[in-house]
Amino acid sequence: MALSIPLCLFNRHRPKRGTVAWDGDGYAGRCRHCGVDIVRRSRRLWRRADTAPKNSSD
Ligand SMILES: [Zn+2]
Repeated sequence: MALSIPLCLFNRHRPKRGTVAWDGDGYAGRCRHCGVDIVRRSRRLWRRADTAPKNSSD
């Protein structure tokens, strides 16, 4: 339903309990909604984990 549509489309995810772990550089986990790997950028702000190597700085 409409309420089940999360903010994932805006790259704002929510971690699922039990999936969050310290990976040495920050907290990483898995989105409870869409299931993608996410990393914590700041407090209460989770973004999709960028696993693709960057060839340019932005
Ligand atoms: Zn998500």
